[in-house]
Amino acid sequence: MTQENVRQAAIIAISEAKALGGLVDYRTKDVREVYCEHVFNEAIQRERLPKMVFKSLQQTIKAGQEINPGIADAVALAMRDWAIEHGASHFTHWFQPMTGNTAEKHESFITPTPDGEVLAKFSGTDLVRGESDASSFPSGGLRATFEARGYTAWDPSSPAFILDNPNGATLVVPTMFVSWTGDALDKKTPLLRSMEALSTQAIRVLRLFGNTTSRRVFTTVGAEQEYFLIDRHFYLNRPDLVNTGRTLFGAKPPKGQELEDNYFGAIPERVLSFMAEVEYELLRLGVPVKTRHNEVAPGQYELAPTFETANLATDHQMLTMETLRKVAGHHGFACLLHEKPFEGVNGSGKHNNWSMTTDDGENLLEPGDTPHANAQFLILCAAALRGVYKYAGLLRLSVCGAGNDHRLGANEAPPAIISVFLGDQLTDVFQQLRSGGAKSSKSPDHLEIGVSMLPKLPRDAGDRNRTSPFAFTGNKFEFRAIGSSQSIAGANTVLNAIVAESLDYIATRLEAAVDADQDFNNAVQELLSEMVGEFEPILFDGDNYCLKWQKEAQRRGLPNLQTTVDCVPLATSPEAIELFGKYCVYSERELRSREEILLSNYARSIGIEAQTASTMAHTMILPAALRYQADVAAAVNNVKVAGLENPTQMDLLRELTEAASAFRKAAVALDQAVVEDIGGDALAQAKYQRDAVIPAMDELRLWGDKLELLVADDYWPLAPYREILFIR
Ligand code: ADP
Ligand code: MG
Repeated sequence: MTQENVRQAAIIAISEAKALGGLVDYRTKDVREVYCEHVFNEAIQRERLPKMVFKSLQQTIKAGQEINPGIADAVALAMRDWAIEHGASHFTHWFQPMTGNTAEKHESFITPTPDGEVLAKFSGTDLVRGESDASSFPSGGLRATFEARGYTAWDPSSPAFILDNPNGATLVVPTMFVSWTGDALDKKTPLLRSMEALSTQAIRVLRLFGNTTSRRVFTTVGAEQEYFLIDRHFYLNRPDLVNTGRTLFGAKPPKGQELEDNYFGAIPERVLSFMAEVEYELLRLGVPVKTRHNEVAPGQYELAPTFETANLATDHQMLTMETLRKVAGHHGFACLLHEKPFEGVNGSGKHNNWSMTTDDGENLLEPGDTPHANAQFLILCAAALRGVYKYAGLLRLSVCGAGNDHRLGANEAPPAIISVFLGDQLTDVFQQLRSGGAKSSKSPDHLEIGVSMLPKLPRDAGDRNRTSPFAFTGNKFEFRAIGSSQSIAGANTVLNAIVAESLDYIATRLEAAVDADQDFNNAVQELLSEMVGEFEPILFDGDNYCLKWQKEAQRRGLPNLQTTVDCVPLATSPEAIELFGKYCVYSERELRSREEILLSNYARSIGIEAQTASTMAHTMILPAALRYQADVAAAVNNVKVAGLENPTQMDLLRELTEAASAFRKAAVALDQAVVEDIGGDALAQAKYQRDAVIPAMDELRLWGDKLELLVADDYWPLAPYREILFIR
């Protein structure tokens, strides 16, 4: 088949594709029955466990305690029976290694006995702890080969669930993943530690405000997921998408997102049936998916859940990404989670809505109805702002990666400079606090803690600043810098840790004031005033894209870390070691390992992109260009032989020849850049990729995209943007 036919066949197939229905029909099945159908949740536990066991398990979950070993067998037994009734033949511990994906190793329930029978075995020990050969997961030097084994440990705060496969199902037990030396080899363990740290410090603050009932504070997270959905024919036609997740070539299409006609537009039926199946799968797994809509770029969509505790939200977010990828295939689509699959249209991110909630249900970032409640709100809000100000670099670090570099620091929302949008009212409140801190200043427009009421803060979408990386949205903060393919664990771990540090600072100051018999409201007022003075530079309500802000941010001393290579060294900075060590979130060894992994992942992904680009250049694009060049040359010659002048055709031939030569030169230069052995440590290697390999790829793409607009379409082997983005 010629290339022409491959692409044409794809388009014909797509034109005949039908929306798939059938997995579920809510006209015959109540949507409420679907939710949590596959989760061993509290209701099922109550139904299936002996009363004492149920109580003890709930205690473990709600108080974040260790599991009582005495109940593990009973829990496992109930879980096994429930799972087998739902078609499970296997169980697996499910964990989140530092690859950024999830990992699982299935084990059959079936155990043969010596007398030829079989038992379905799943003991308390099987549930609570698993051994795993960790040697093939990245450890960043944490694990020498002689101690290659790691183990997985049950996380009872995230309920077990059932994953269907074509022949049955698997019981999935969410776990942590640690080395024998106790180092975290995963993303869940540090997240749980950070939640614990924040809870401890937040409770200290709440006690000062007279709260005697709350026992824990949870961080709550709702993560909105953006993604592209393209037809699988086009996906398979593009080695760059298949190998790197993004297009390495592709000229700007005649129509991109200029008309702004896609956002919230009607969802095509084929896409809608994909979404319905994704939601069905997720609802059964207890993921509370809530909203779906078209995003800004053509072919781009978004899905958002209702918020949950950070740990559960993180597990569910991983399941969401996996489900999107898997279900896309059922519908003849490919789901692209890369941060920047297409040049020239918006990339994809993940908006991380974050707040703190007590175990008795109070959202601590909800402005209150009384002056007292407002004082508490302002202190907690200030804790977050101080954390973001003090550790802006670490927040930027928490979202770094080769893919996300195309958004942050490039010409796209949000920028690499971390700042906070508060909105007019709240900004005004903090400004009043700053100037009215001293007790003496009693001018009428000064807010007095314990006496004045806050103005009503708006919570409507119109008031929002879409360009800000960190925005207060009425009763939560929205951190918008996470990449669409990234786990949200890292960012939330950092967020929790930096806010825990501020809460510790606040509690220590206010406890001292109380001990010294100071008036509490005055002490709060003074502290707030002082804190606003400290974190003021982080507040910015203007346009985050403009050059003026970059200059202004520099004047304010805010970090502007453009690339992954710029931020990774912060992982082992003295301030990071001190902060994460103090709150037992990451040890220094764990930080070093993560630094190592981030750098080598970065270098490897750029390396894979470079090799893919080179292969495509030499074996697909250049041959097409040369074939067409030969045709044009023959045509020019033929016309000449016929005795006619043809200067414009000569121009075309010249232009084509120049572009093809420049393209080949750029491909050879890229090849040289790729093979060069520069030696040095991980940082040096990553820097080299950024400073030598990426520019070489950019140069190659420039000429490749030029050729795409010159070469006859029926010679062009790659599906162009105008087809990938618009035909479905
Ligand atoms: P909007 O439409 O204003 O962006 P939504 O209410 O739809 O706001 O919320 C967007 C996301 O924020 C959802 O995932 C939602 O569950 C989440 N969210 C709402 N309240 C909180 C909270 N207290 N903590 C964490 N996330 C929250
Ligand atoms: Mg949002």
